[in-house]
Amino acid sequence: MNKDLLLYEKSRAGRRTLRLGELDVPAADVKRLPKGSLREKFAVLPEVGELELVRHYVRLSKKNVSITDSFYPLGSCTMKYNPVTNEAAAGIAGFRQIHPFQDAGRVQGALAIWKRLENYLAGVTGLPAVTIHPAAGAQGELCALLVAGAHFEAKGESQRKVVLIPDSAHGTNPASAAIAGLKAVTVKSGDDGLVDLADLKSKLGDDTAVFMITNPSTLGLFETRIAEICAAVHAVGGLVYMDGANLNAIMGVARPADFGVDMMHINLHKTFSTPHGGGGPGAGPICVIEELRRFLPAPRIVEDANGYRLDYDAPDSIGMLRGWPGNWGVVLRAYCYIRRLGREGIRRAAENAVLNANYLRVKLNKTYHVPFDRMCMHEFVCNTRHQRQYGIHAVDIAKRLIDLGYHPMTIYFPLVVSEAMMIEPTETECKETLDAFIEDMLLIAQECADDPDKLHAAPVTTPVGRLDEGRAVKDPVLCYTCG
Ligand SMILES: *Cc1c(COP(=O)(O)O)cnc(C)c1O
Repeated sequence: MNKDLLLYEKSRAGRRTLRLGELDVPAADVKRLPKGSLREKFAVLPEVGELELVRHYVRLSKKNVSITDSFYPLGSCTMKYNPVTNEAAAGIAGFRQIHPFQDAGRVQGALAIWKRLENYLAGVTGLPAVTIHPAAGAQGELCALLVAGAHFEAKGESQRKVVLIPDSAHGTNPASAAIAGLKAVTVKSGDDGLVDLADLKSKLGDDTAVFMITNPSTLGLFETRIAEICAAVHAVGGLVYMDGANLNAIMGVARPADFGVDMMHINLHKTFSTPHGGGGPGAGPICVIEELRRFLPAPRIVEDANGYRLDYDAPDSIGMLRGWPGNWGVVLRAYCYIRRLGREGIRRAAENAVLNANYLRVKLNKTYHVPFDRMCMHEFVCNTRHQRQYGIHAVDIAKRLIDLGYHPMTIYFPLVVSEAMMIEPTETECKETLDAFIEDMLLIAQECADDPDKLHAAPVTTPVGRLDEGRAVKDPVLCYTCG
């Protein structure tokens, strides 16, 4: 490395700046680099002392909201507290530093954990064939739809191109269908918020590939006719896919395979604890019936007399969807979470998630309208029907919650409820936290009547107030400049 890699120079303004010099690269090699990649001038970086640097990052970290500093009832996302012991396990050097190309003989412990997690997920879902390959729930959906496509192709039924999706579904469902080259067709919800059976049946036929259902749904409702629905889909030769993002409400209580599901994904980062948000990190393993095993991505993990190894010999496999076989850090955390809770603990986590959501629902349903007001699962959806008279929208309540120290709930989703506010407390919150949240939600409702402008102005405690979200979507500025 060249000794003048780091050059210091006083800038004209008198402030010291750091200049990054050139690397000691042979001139012949430099000539081979594309012109556009070569720096013409030294990069000017601010030079600051350690204390300034530390303060800069600590200040930034204080602006960051997370589950570790406030209640985060973001429905659909399952922002549960993720135990620190999981992080410690994921940080163990022997695990952290392994590489997918390492010889299997040297990573037997990791492969054993991988295989055991597959077995646990098979146990929780009742679906025996598992791959932890997909990087997220959305990729799990795509993966399963490709598996279904390969299955129908092998059966000579490649005319099956339709994926039926309820209107309360997450946007990733139709997106995955489109990317898989299939056609998404919407199935209506009935007045009870559940799948409209007559509408579903009228759309089932020879072209049906998959019925994709989220159960419990994004309305926080358990699909009580799920067995009948699965039977109807099977009767026309289709497969049932369950979006398992809400598995945390039923894990250890009901197994999707038992009510007729053929394939599903599990969001390890939601249900089985990995800190997430802002799009990552994640893992979306899929679990499928035995008949579909041969189409799962390669490599598969196999155990034989010599121990564990990765097997790339899978002629019917759909192949790989991403660079590496799985998101190891997330796998490890999920394994720790499941081992720590055990069979009983997994069930109790689900029961407490449901209990907490129902507690909030019955404490808030007189103040905020709950369109499907009955026993809910892990989350419930309310809206601003009673607050509309004051000119209040869901976004106003969400922004006011920020001022009171909360991460807002999910708003404007699911689309089947107008002005939706979707609240998911998770099992990890105690009664005191829930009571404080209830009190603040009731306070906000009072403010809607007394001082609606206070809500329209919120948030006032954050570095920036209301953003022009429409403009942010249409005219995004995806770079920043050092100011
Ligand atoms: C989160 C979620 C997804 C997508 O999962 P990712 O892991 O974020 O890709 C799909 N469906 C539902 C219902 C979800 O809540």
